[in-house]
Amino acid sequence: MAITRLEIDLSALKHNYTYMRSKVAPNVRMMAVVKAFAYGSDAQVVAKELEKLNVDYFAVAYVAEGVALRDAGITTPILVLHPQPDNFETLLERCLEPNIYSKRMLEMFSAFAKAKKQTAYPIHLKFNTGLNRLGFTADDVPWIVEQVLKSEHLKVKSLFSHLAASEDLDERDFTLHQIAQFDEIANEIKTQLGYAPFMHMTNTSGIINYPSAHYDCVRTGIGLYGYGNTPEETANLKPVARLKSVISQKHIINSGDSVGYNRALIAKEQMVTATIPIGHADGISRAYGNGVGYVTIAGEKAPFVGNVCMDMIMVNVTNITCEEGDDVEIFGTHTGANALAQKVQSISYELLTMVGQRVKRVVLRE
Ligand SMILES: *Cc1c(COP(=O)(O)O)cnc(C)c1O
Repeated sequence: MAITRLEIDLSALKHNYTYMRSKVAPNVRMMAVVKAFAYGSDAQVVAKELEKLNVDYFAVAYVAEGVALRDAGITTPILVLHPQPDNFETLLERCLEPNIYSKRMLEMFSAFAKAKKQTAYPIHLKFNTGLNRLGFTADDVPWIVEQVLKSEHLKVKSLFSHLAASEDLDERDFTLHQIAQFDEIANEIKTQLGYAPFMHMTNTSGIINYPSAHYDCVRTGIGLYGYGNTPEETANLKPVARLKSVISQKHIINSGDSVGYNRALIAKEQMVTATIPIGHADGISRAYGNGVGYVTIAGEKAPFVGNVCMDMIMVNVTNITCEEGDDVEIFGTHTGANALAQKVQSISYELLTMVGQRVKRVVLRE
């Protein structure tokens, strides 16, 4: 298909899911993180496939993302990592389960569940053990328990926390401290509540690096999409998303001529460029311009020429045998999203999630 498209390879997704699953004990639940359109791919398609593979739970960032999964017919439980009181109504209507991370949230959700005459509505309590982003602290425990125990409207389904540097083994001591703190908090809550919500703490690199912190459930995002946070991890995985395009036009640029906006490139000698219909509006940052990034054409690296435009890039194909209409890979099999992102001091997560919504998603089934 000769247009700009993001191929979504479901056999790669299955491979990655099976690989991540193999890293945890059979009784440990798998929570698939499908926020941000399943890391820029297609959350509905990805979630449906994972549901077929018997994933135990989904996590999304926002309520609207959970709604999209329910609209697609997903019946697996969905944890909303970052709900807002303004969306409690929708959350409840669509049977989404909120992360409750602060006193304000617990008070507001508790009052809401009561007003809606709910019984034992599932909530998930998040604890801050060092990331300092969202979460209760250890000092909040007695207050939380009091609130929960006096309310028949809520039931704590899980306790969780998030690691700040699971991919960085230089921060091992810090991470082990986070784990110890979470242990302590969770044990205290379980004792005081008189029941045992399930516990989860690790993301993809936490799953790989800290098996002692798998608890009852793990949360995997980037691993499912084919990337680890080290080359060794990534080698075991397959990229799910492949961003591809096509050569619209070739140009012969004579010495002294310029290419693109601001005449950012002035040719020092004759060269050949290819114009490709993808630009910064599609998630290709301007930072890749002027030779920083490259695409793959006929198996060869073609560096960016001049500035990235909104809807187009130009690349250098002087030494590449190619024709108008030929296929171009921006990232995927030849160049991983992590390798390309590194060129601009970014990470696979950012490049993947920036792929714009006007790029057609093409699902490749087994
Ligand atoms: C996004 C997110 C994850 C997934 O992390 P990966 O590194 O992609 O596996 C897990 N937990 C929380 C709380 C998150 O926000």
